[in-house]
Amino acid sequence: MDAALSPELEAYRAAARAFIAQHAPTYGRAARKGLSEAQDLALGRAWLALKAANGYACITLPREYGGGGGTDLEQILFVQEEAPHGFPTEYFAIGLGMPIPMLLRYGTEEQKQALVPPAIRGETIWCQIFSEPGGGSDVGAFRFKARRDGDDWILSGQKVWISWAQHSDYGVIVTRTDTTVAKHKGLTYFFVDLKAPGVTVRPIRQLHGRTDFNEIFFDEVRVPDSCRLGPVGEGFRLAVETLMIERYTAAADETGGGPPLEAFTALAKAATHRGRPAIEDGRVRGGIARAHAVQQALIAIHQKSLLDLAAGRTPGPEGSIHKYAGARERKRLAVLALDLLGPAGVAFDPAAGMKEDFAMSWMDVATLRIAGGSDEMLLNTVAEKILGLPQDYRPDKGVPFDQVPVG
Ligand SMILES: Cc1cc2nc3c(=O)[nH]c(=O)nc-3n(C[C@H](O)[C@H](O)[C@H](O)COP(=O)(O)OP(=O)(O)OC[C@H]3O[C@@H](n4cnc5c(N)ncnc54)[C@H](O)[C@@H]3O)c2cc1C
Repeated sequence: MDAALSPELEAYRAAARAFIAQHAPTYGRAARKGLSEAQDLALGRAWLALKAANGYACITLPREYGGGGGTDLEQILFVQEEAPHGFPTEYFAIGLGMPIPMLLRYGTEEQKQALVPPAIRGETIWCQIFSEPGGGSDVGAFRFKARRDGDDWILSGQKVWISWAQHSDYGVIVTRTDTTVAKHKGLTYFFVDLKAPGVTVRPIRQLHGRTDFNEIFFDEVRVPDSCRLGPVGEGFRLAVETLMIERYTAAADETGGGPPLEAFTALAKAATHRGRPAIEDGRVRGGIARAHAVQQALIAIHQKSLLDLAAGRTPGPEGSIHKYAGARERKRLAVLALDLLGPAGVAFDPAAGMKEDFAMSWMDVATLRIAGGSDEMLLNTVAEKILGLPQDYRPDKGVPFDQVPVG
Protein backbone atom coordinates (compact mmCIF):
# COMPACT_ATOMS: atom_id res chain seq x y z
CA MET A 1 0.00 0.00 0.00
CA ASP A 2 1.09 3.55 -0.74
CA ALA A 3 2.35 5.51 2.29
CA ALA A 4 0.18 8.49 1.39
CA LEU A 5 -3.05 6.60 0.84
CA SER A 6 -6.03 6.22 3.14
CA PRO A 7 -8.20 3.06 2.92
CA GLU A 8 -10.78 5.13 0.95
CA LEU A 9 -8.16 6.06 -1.61
CA GLU A 10 -6.99 2.46 -1.86
CA ALA A 11 -10.63 1.47 -2.54
CA TYR A 12 -10.85 4.21 -5.18
CA ARG A 13 -7.68 2.88 -6.81
CA ALA A 14 -9.02 -0.69 -6.82
CA ALA A 15 -12.27 0.42 -8.50
CA ALA A 16 -10.35 2.45 -11.08
CA ARG A 17 -8.05 -0.49 -11.80
CA ALA A 18 -11.04 -2.79 -12.40
CA PHE A 19 -12.72 -0.25 -14.72
CA ILE A 20 -9.49 0.19 -16.70
CA ALA A 21 -8.81 -3.55 -16.92
CA GLN A 22 -12.34 -4.12 -18.24
CA HIS A 23 -11.92 -1.61 -21.07
CA ALA A 24 -8.22 -1.88 -21.93
CA PRO A 25 -8.79 -4.58 -24.59
CA THR A 26 -11.26 -2.32 -26.46
CA TYR A 27 -9.48 1.04 -26.16
CA GLY A 28 -5.91 0.33 -25.04
CA ARG A 29 -2.58 -0.25 -26.79
CA ALA A 30 -3.49 -3.51 -28.55
CA ALA A 31 -6.73 -2.04 -29.96
CA ARG A 32 -4.79 0.92 -31.41
CA LYS A 33 -2.36 -1.18 -33.46
CA GLY A 34 -2.68 -0.49 -37.20
CA LEU A 35 -5.21 2.35 -36.86
CA SER A 36 -4.88 5.54 -38.90
CA GLU A 37 -4.58 8.75 -36.86
CA ALA A 38 -8.25 9.57 -37.65
CA GLN A 39 -9.36 6.14 -36.39
CA ASP A 40 -7.13 6.46 -33.34
CA LEU A 41 -8.58 9.87 -32.54
CA ALA A 42 -12.12 8.46 -32.88
CA LEU A 43 -11.17 5.67 -30.46
CA GLY A 44 -9.78 8.30 -28.07
CA ARG A 45 -13.04 10.28 -28.23
CA ALA A 46 -15.03 7.12 -27.43
CA TRP A 47 -12.73 6.30 -24.47
CA LEU A 48 -13.10 9.83 -23.12
CA ALA A 49 -16.91 9.69 -23.46
CA LEU A 50 -16.95 6.40 -21.55
CA LYS A 51 -14.72 7.84 -18.82
CA ALA A 52 -16.94 10.95 -18.57
CA ALA A 53 -20.05 8.76 -18.19
CA ASN A 54 -18.31 7.02 -15.26
CA GLY A 55 -16.89 10.11 -13.54
CA TYR A 56 -13.29 9.34 -14.59
CA ALA A 57 -12.78 12.13 -17.15
CA CYS A 58 -11.33 15.31 -15.63
CA ILE A 59 -11.71 13.86 -12.18
CA THR A 60 -10.90 17.12 -10.36
CA LEU A 61 -13.31 19.31 -12.34
CA PRO A 62 -16.80 20.06 -11.00
CA ARG A 63 -19.63 17.60 -11.77
CA GLU A 64 -21.91 20.39 -12.98
CA TYR A 65 -19.63 20.85 -16.02
CA GLY A 66 -19.14 17.13 -16.70
CA GLY A 67 -16.10 16.51 -14.48
CA GLY A 68 -15.75 13.88 -11.79
CA GLY A 69 -15.96 16.21 -8.77
CA GLY A 70 -13.01 14.36 -7.18
CA THR A 71 -9.65 15.24 -5.64
CA ASP A 72 -6.13 15.72 -7.00
CA LEU A 73 -5.08 12.45 -5.37
CA GLU A 74 -7.89 10.52 -7.07
CA GLN A 75 -6.89 12.03 -10.40
CA ILE A 76 -3.23 11.06 -9.90
CA LEU A 77 -4.17 7.51 -8.92
CA PHE A 78 -6.43 7.08 -11.94
CA VAL A 79 -3.75 8.35 -14.33
CA GLN A 80 -1.15 6.05 -12.74
CA GLU A 81 -3.43 3.08 -13.38
CA GLU A 82 -4.43 4.23 -16.88
CA ALA A 83 -1.01 5.21 -18.26
CA PRO A 84 0.59 1.75 -18.62
CA HIS A 85 -2.24 0.58 -20.91
CA GLY A 86 -1.49 3.08 -23.69
CA PHE A 87 -5.01 4.49 -24.16
CA PRO A 88 -5.38 7.20 -26.87
CA THR A 89 -5.51 10.10 -24.39
CA GLU A 90 -2.71 12.27 -25.80
CA TYR A 91 -4.95 14.32 -28.13
CA PHE A 92 -6.92 15.65 -25.15
CA ALA A 93 -4.33 15.83 -22.37
CA ILE A 94 -3.20 19.43 -22.93
CA GLY A 95 -6.66 20.84 -23.61
CA LEU A 96 -8.25 19.23 -20.58
CA GLY A 97 -5.17 19.77 -18.44
CA MET A 98 -4.71 23.53 -18.88
CA PRO A 99 -7.08 25.49 -21.19
CA ILE A 100 -10.28 23.95 -19.80
CA PRO A 101 -9.37 24.64 -16.14
CA MET A 102 -8.47 28.21 -17.20
CA LEU A 103 -11.86 28.60 -18.92
CA LEU A 104 -13.50 27.35 -15.73
CA ARG A 105 -11.59 29.94 -13.69
CA TYR A 106 -12.08 32.95 -15.98
CA GLY A 107 -14.95 32.25 -18.43
CA THR A 108 -18.54 33.41 -18.02
CA GLU A 109 -21.13 30.97 -16.72
CA GLU A 110 -22.64 30.74 -20.21
CA GLN A 111 -19.25 29.94 -21.78
CA LYS A 112 -18.49 27.29 -19.18
CA GLN A 113 -21.89 25.59 -19.63
CA ALA A 114 -21.57 25.61 -23.41
CA LEU A 115 -17.91 24.72 -23.89
CA VAL A 116 -16.62 22.62 -21.00
CA PRO A 117 -18.91 19.51 -21.08
CA PRO A 118 -18.30 18.72 -24.80
CA ALA A 119 -14.54 19.01 -24.24
CA ILE A 120 -14.68 16.64 -21.27
CA ARG A 121 -16.65 14.13 -23.37
CA GLY A 122 -14.02 14.33 -26.13
CA GLU A 123 -16.36 15.95 -28.65
CA THR A 124 -14.15 19.05 -28.94
CA ILE A 125 -10.40 19.51 -28.51
CA TRP A 126 -8.55 22.51 -27.08
CA CYS A 127 -4.93 23.53 -27.46
CA GLN A 128 -2.58 25.98 -25.79
CA ILE A 129 -1.31 28.66 -28.18
CA PHE A 130 1.63 30.37 -26.46
CA SER A 131 5.02 29.83 -28.16
CA GLU A 132 6.23 32.06 -30.97
CA PRO A 133 9.01 31.83 -33.57
CA GLY A 134 10.97 34.37 -31.48
CA GLY A 135 10.92 32.11 -28.40
CA GLY A 136 8.67 30.26 -25.99
CA SER A 137 10.52 30.38 -22.67
CA ASP A 138 10.06 34.08 -22.03
CA VAL A 139 6.30 34.57 -22.08
CA GLY A 140 6.79 38.27 -21.32
CA ALA A 141 8.56 38.73 -24.66
CA PHE A 142 5.66 37.54 -26.85
CA ARG A 143 5.01 39.78 -29.88
CA PHE A 144 1.84 38.26 -31.43
CA LYS A 145 -0.56 41.22 -31.77
CA ALA A 146 -4.17 41.84 -30.83
CA ARG A 147 -5.68 45.30 -31.44
CA ARG A 148 -9.04 46.54 -30.25
CA ASP A 149 -11.73 47.21 -32.87
CA GLY A 150 -15.08 48.17 -31.25
CA ASP A 151 -16.44 45.13 -29.41
CA ASP A 152 -13.89 42.87 -31.10
CA TRP A 153 -10.15 42.30 -31.21
CA ILE A 154 -8.16 41.67 -34.38
CA LEU A 155 -5.44 39.02 -33.97
CA SER A 156 -2.42 38.86 -36.30
CA GLY A 157 0.80 36.91 -36.24
CA GLN A 158 2.34 33.47 -35.98
CA LYS A 159 2.50 30.94 -33.17
CA VAL A 160 4.47 27.68 -33.32
CA TRP A 161 4.94 24.23 -31.71
CA ILE A 162 1.25 24.04 -30.78
CA SER A 163 0.43 20.45 -29.81
CA TRP A 164 -2.59 18.87 -31.50
CA ALA A 165 -3.77 22.15 -33.07
CA GLN A 166 -4.47 20.18 -36.27
CA HIS A 167 -7.34 18.47 -34.45
CA SER A 168 -8.34 21.36 -32.21
CA ASP A 169 -11.56 23.36 -32.23
CA TYR A 170 -10.42 26.04 -29.76
CA GLY A 171 -7.29 27.30 -28.08
CA VAL A 172 -6.21 29.70 -25.37
CA ILE A 173 -3.79 32.34 -26.64
CA VAL A 174 -1.50 35.04 -25.23
CA THR A 175 -1.31 38.25 -27.26
CA ARG A 176 0.39 41.64 -27.01
CA THR A 177 -2.20 44.38 -26.70
CA ASP A 178 0.02 47.26 -25.54
CA THR A 179 3.64 47.86 -26.57
CA THR A 180 4.07 51.10 -24.58
CA VAL A 181 4.20 49.49 -21.13
CA ALA A 182 6.73 47.09 -19.54
CA LYS A 183 6.76 43.72 -21.29
CA HIS A 184 4.85 41.80 -18.61
CA LYS A 185 2.09 44.40 -18.46
CA GLY A 186 1.04 44.58 -22.13
CA LEU A 187 -0.28 41.05 -22.65
CA THR A 188 -3.90 39.85 -22.81
CA TYR A 189 -5.28 36.28 -22.77
CA PHE A 190 -8.16 35.04 -24.97
CA PHE A 191 -9.72 31.84 -26.14
CA VAL A 192 -10.14 31.56 -29.90
CA ASP A 193 -12.18 29.52 -32.37
CA LEU A 194 -9.63 27.77 -34.59
CA LYS A 195 -12.21 27.27 -37.34
CA ALA A 196 -12.66 31.08 -37.70
CA PRO A 197 -11.80 32.73 -41.05
CA GLY A 198 -8.13 33.75 -41.26
CA VAL A 199 -6.74 30.90 -39.09
CA THR A 200 -4.32 28.53 -40.86
CA VAL A 201 -2.93 25.48 -39.03
CA ARG A 202 0.13 23.77 -40.56
CA PRO A 203 1.37 20.50 -39.03
CA ILE A 204 5.14 20.11 -38.46
CA ARG A 205 6.58 16.65 -39.20
CA GLN A 206 9.00 15.36 -36.55
CA LEU A 207 12.10 13.13 -36.72
CA HIS A 208 10.08 9.95 -36.14
CA GLY A 209 7.50 10.88 -38.77
CA ARG A 210 4.68 11.89 -36.44
CA THR A 211 3.06 15.31 -36.45
CA ASP A 212 2.29 16.12 -32.85
CA PHE A 213 2.60 19.89 -33.17
CA ASN A 214 1.87 22.73 -35.59
CA GLU A 215 2.49 26.30 -36.58
CA ILE A 216 -0.58 28.54 -36.66
CA PHE A 217 -1.02 31.73 -38.67
CA PHE A 218 -3.63 34.35 -37.75
CA ASP A 219 -4.43 36.73 -40.58
CA GLU A 220 -6.55 39.57 -39.14
CA VAL A 221 -8.75 37.15 -37.20
CA ARG A 222 -11.74 38.82 -35.53
CA VAL A 223 -12.32 37.69 -31.91
CA PRO A 224 -15.16 39.10 -29.76
CA ASP A 225 -14.17 40.79 -26.50
CA SER A 226 -16.38 38.21 -24.74
CA CYS A 227 -13.63 35.66 -25.52
CA ARG A 228 -11.13 37.58 -23.39
CA LEU A 229 -10.18 35.71 -20.21
CA GLY A 230 -9.09 37.99 -17.37
CA PRO A 231 -8.57 41.76 -17.61
CA VAL A 232 -6.76 43.53 -20.47
CA GLY A 233 -3.05 43.62 -19.59
CA GLU A 234 -3.22 40.61 -17.23
CA GLY A 235 -2.25 38.02 -19.86
CA PHE A 236 1.16 37.37 -18.33
CA ARG A 237 -0.38 36.43 -14.99
CA LEU A 238 -2.88 34.08 -16.65
CA ALA A 239 -0.16 32.53 -18.83
CA VAL A 240 2.00 31.78 -15.79
CA GLU A 241 -1.04 30.36 -14.00
CA THR A 242 -1.63 28.05 -16.99
CA LEU A 243 2.01 26.94 -17.06
CA MET A 244 2.01 26.21 -13.34
CA ILE A 245 -0.82 23.70 -13.90
CA GLU A 246 1.32 22.20 -16.70
CA ARG A 247 4.51 21.85 -14.62
CA TYR A 248 2.62 20.13 -11.86
CA THR A 249 0.71 17.64 -14.02
CA ALA A 250 3.87 16.72 -15.95
CA ALA A 251 5.64 15.25 -12.96
CA ALA A 252 4.47 11.73 -12.23
CA ASP A 253 6.16 9.05 -14.39
CA GLU A 254 9.56 8.00 -13.02
CA THR A 255 10.59 6.65 -16.45
CA GLY A 256 10.24 10.17 -17.92
CA GLY A 257 7.58 8.72 -20.27
CA GLY A 258 9.95 6.12 -21.75
CA PRO A 259 9.98 2.30 -21.60
CA PRO A 260 10.04 0.76 -18.11
CA LEU A 261 13.40 -0.32 -16.66
CA GLU A 262 12.21 -3.95 -16.81
CA ALA A 263 12.05 -3.65 -20.63
CA PHE A 264 15.70 -2.57 -20.66
CA THR A 265 16.73 -5.38 -18.34
CA ALA A 266 14.94 -7.91 -20.57
CA LEU A 267 16.75 -6.47 -23.59
CA ALA A 268 20.11 -6.70 -21.79
CA LYS A 269 19.43 -10.35 -20.97
CA ALA A 270 18.53 -11.18 -24.57
CA ALA A 271 21.34 -9.20 -26.27
CA THR A 272 24.99 -10.20 -26.46
CA HIS A 273 28.11 -8.06 -26.11
CA ARG A 274 31.52 -9.47 -27.18
CA GLY A 275 30.03 -12.94 -27.27
CA ARG A 276 28.67 -12.78 -23.72
CA PRO A 277 25.16 -11.89 -22.46
CA ALA A 278 25.04 -8.07 -22.35
CA ILE A 279 23.62 -8.18 -18.81
CA GLU A 280 27.10 -9.34 -17.65
CA ASP A 281 28.76 -6.17 -18.98
CA GLY A 282 29.79 -3.64 -16.32
CA ARG A 283 28.59 -0.61 -18.26
CA VAL A 284 25.16 -2.21 -18.79
CA ARG A 285 24.88 -3.22 -15.13
CA GLY A 286 25.98 0.27 -14.06
CA GLY A 287 23.34 1.78 -16.35
CA ILE A 288 20.62 -0.37 -14.78
CA ALA A 289 21.78 0.50 -11.25
CA ARG A 290 21.91 4.20 -12.04
CA ALA A 291 18.46 4.21 -13.69
CA HIS A 292 17.03 2.31 -10.72
CA ALA A 293 18.52 4.80 -8.25
CA VAL A 294 17.24 7.82 -10.20
CA GLN A 295 13.78 6.28 -10.60
CA GLN A 296 13.57 5.53 -6.88
CA ALA A 297 14.47 9.16 -6.15
CA LEU A 298 11.76 10.35 -8.58
CA ILE A 299 9.21 8.05 -6.94
CA ALA A 300 10.18 9.59 -3.57
CA ILE A 301 9.69 13.10 -4.98
CA HIS A 302 6.30 12.06 -6.32
CA GLN A 303 5.39 10.54 -2.94
CA LYS A 304 6.23 13.85 -1.31
CA SER A 305 3.84 15.61 -3.72
CA LEU A 306 1.12 13.09 -2.79
CA LEU A 307 1.72 13.66 0.92
CA ASP A 308 1.58 17.43 0.37
CA LEU A 309 -1.74 17.06 -1.45
CA ALA A 310 -3.13 14.71 1.20
CA ALA A 311 -2.22 17.34 3.81
CA GLY A 312 -3.95 20.10 1.80
CA ARG A 313 -0.67 21.72 0.67
CA THR A 314 0.26 22.64 -2.91
CA PRO A 315 3.32 20.70 -4.11
CA GLY A 316 6.37 22.93 -4.55
CA PRO A 317 8.92 23.34 -7.35
CA GLU A 318 10.16 19.74 -7.00
CA GLY A 319 8.11 19.00 -10.15
CA SER A 320 10.96 20.76 -12.02
CA ILE A 321 13.52 18.30 -10.63
CA HIS A 322 11.23 15.40 -11.53
CA LYS A 323 10.88 16.44 -15.16
CA TYR A 324 14.55 17.39 -15.56
CA ALA A 325 15.97 14.19 -14.07
CA GLY A 326 13.31 11.90 -15.56
CA ALA A 327 13.89 13.10 -19.11
CA ARG A 328 17.69 12.92 -18.84
CA GLU A 329 17.62 9.40 -17.44
CA ARG A 330 15.16 8.28 -20.12
CA LYS A 331 17.60 9.54 -22.74
CA ARG A 332 20.58 7.75 -21.13
CA LEU A 333 18.69 4.46 -21.02
CA ALA A 334 17.53 4.83 -24.63
CA VAL A 335 21.11 5.46 -25.78
CA LEU A 336 22.31 2.34 -23.95
CA ALA A 337 19.44 0.30 -25.41
CA LEU A 338 20.26 1.45 -28.93
CA ASP A 339 23.92 0.49 -28.35
CA LEU A 340 22.75 -3.02 -27.43
CA LEU A 341 20.32 -3.28 -30.32
CA GLY A 342 22.97 -2.28 -32.88
CA PRO A 343 21.66 -2.04 -36.46
CA ALA A 344 18.31 -3.53 -35.34
CA GLY A 345 17.68 -0.33 -33.35
CA VAL A 346 17.38 1.65 -36.56
CA ALA A 347 14.37 -0.41 -37.64
CA PHE A 348 12.03 1.40 -35.28
CA ASP A 349 8.27 1.01 -35.35
CA PRO A 350 6.75 4.46 -36.08
CA ALA A 351 3.38 3.25 -34.76
CA ALA A 352 4.88 2.18 -31.42
CA GLY A 353 4.36 4.23 -28.30
CA MET A 354 7.26 5.89 -26.47
CA LYS A 355 6.97 3.33 -23.69
CA GLU A 356 7.38 0.39 -26.05
CA ASP A 357 10.19 1.20 -28.48
CA PHE A 358 13.61 2.48 -27.38
CA ALA A 359 14.35 4.12 -30.75
CA MET A 360 11.04 6.00 -30.67
CA SER A 361 11.76 6.96 -27.07
CA TRP A 362 15.24 8.25 -28.01
CA MET A 363 13.91 10.30 -30.93
CA ASP A 364 11.10 11.77 -28.87
CA VAL A 365 12.88 12.49 -25.60
CA ALA A 366 14.62 15.54 -27.06
CA THR A 367 11.20 17.20 -27.28
CA LEU A 368 10.44 16.37 -23.64
CA ARG A 369 13.57 18.25 -22.65
CA ILE A 370 12.04 21.38 -24.23
CA ALA A 371 8.26 21.05 -23.91
CA GLY A 372 6.63 22.30 -20.71
CA GLY A 373 9.83 24.12 -19.66
CA SER A 374 13.28 23.47 -21.17
CA ASP A 375 16.02 21.86 -19.08
CA GLU A 376 17.72 25.23 -18.61
CA MET A 377 14.50 26.90 -17.43
CA LEU A 378 13.88 24.03 -14.99
CA LEU A 379 17.41 24.49 -13.63
CA ASN A 380 16.67 28.20 -13.18
CA THR A 381 13.61 27.22 -11.12
CA VAL A 382 15.68 24.85 -8.99
CA ALA A 383 18.36 27.54 -8.53
CA GLU A 384 15.93 30.28 -7.53
CA LYS A 385 13.11 28.43 -5.76
CA ILE A 386 14.96 25.55 -4.08
CA LEU A 387 18.57 26.72 -3.67
CA GLY A 388 17.61 30.36 -3.08
CA LEU A 389 20.13 31.70 -5.58
CA PRO A 390 19.59 35.24 -6.96
CA GLN A 391 17.66 35.78 -10.20
CA ASP A 392 19.44 36.42 -13.49
CA TYR A 393 20.21 40.05 -14.32
CA ARG A 394 17.14 41.35 -16.22
CA PRO A 395 18.08 44.48 -18.18
CA ASP A 396 14.57 44.79 -19.71
CA LYS A 397 12.82 44.94 -16.31
CA GLY A 398 10.40 47.89 -16.21
CA VAL A 399 11.42 49.11 -19.70
CA PRO A 400 8.48 49.80 -22.09
CA PHE A 401 8.23 46.86 -24.52
CA ASP A 402 8.71 49.08 -27.61
CA GLN A 403 11.97 50.44 -26.14
CA VAL A 404 13.55 47.05 -25.32
CA PRO A 405 16.59 46.69 -27.63
CA VAL A 406 16.27 43.74 -30.03
CA GLY A 407 19.28 42.15 -31.75
C1 LIG B 1 6.78 18.35 -27.94
C2 LIG B 1 6.53 19.81 -27.76
C3 LIG B 1 5.24 20.25 -27.59
C4 LIG B 1 4.99 21.61 -27.44
N1 LIG B 1 3.69 22.01 -27.31
C5 LIG B 1 3.44 23.32 -27.17
C6 LIG B 1 2.09 23.78 -27.07
O1 LIG B 1 1.13 23.00 -27.09
N2 LIG B 1 1.87 25.11 -26.95
C7 LIG B 1 2.90 26.01 -26.92
O2 LIG B 1 2.64 27.20 -26.80
N3 LIG B 1 4.19 25.62 -27.03
C8 LIG B 1 4.48 24.30 -27.16
N4 LIG B 1 5.77 23.88 -27.28
C9 LIG B 1 6.83 24.88 -27.31
C10 LIG B 1 7.58 24.98 -26.00
O3 LIG B 1 6.76 25.57 -25.03
C11 LIG B 1 8.82 25.83 -26.29
O4 LIG B 1 9.63 25.11 -27.19
C12 LIG B 1 9.57 26.12 -25.02
O5 LIG B 1 8.84 27.03 -24.23
C13 LIG B 1 10.96 26.72 -25.31
O6 LIG B 1 10.84 27.76 -26.20
P1 LIG B 1 11.74 27.82 -27.51
O7 LIG B 1 11.78 26.48 -28.13
O8 LIG B 1 11.24 28.94 -28.34
O9 LIG B 1 13.20 28.15 -27.00
P2 LIG B 1 13.71 29.56 -26.48
O10 LIG B 1 12.80 30.11 -25.44
O11 LIG B 1 14.00 30.42 -27.66
O12 LIG B 1 15.07 29.13 -25.80
C14 LIG B 1 16.20 28.71 -26.59
C15 LIG B 1 17.24 28.08 -25.67
O13 LIG B 1 17.66 29.05 -24.70
C16 LIG B 1 17.46 28.54 -23.39
N5 LIG B 1 17.02 29.64 -22.52
C17 LIG B 1 16.00 30.52 -22.78
N6 LIG B 1 15.87 31.38 -21.75
C18 LIG B 1 16.80 31.04 -20.82
C19 LIG B 1 17.15 31.55 -19.53
N7 LIG B 1 16.50 32.58 -18.98
N8 LIG B 1 18.15 30.93 -18.85
C20 LIG B 1 18.82 29.87 -19.39
N9 LIG B 1 18.54 29.36 -20.61
C21 LIG B 1 17.55 29.92 -21.31
C22 LIG B 1 16.39 27.48 -23.52
O14 LIG B 1 16.48 26.51 -22.50
C23 LIG B 1 16.70 26.89 -24.89
O15 LIG B 1 17.72 25.92 -24.76
C24 LIG B 1 6.05 22.54 -27.44
C25 LIG B 1 7.37 22.10 -27.60
C26 LIG B 1 7.62 20.75 -27.76
C27 LIG B 1 9.03 20.32 -27.92
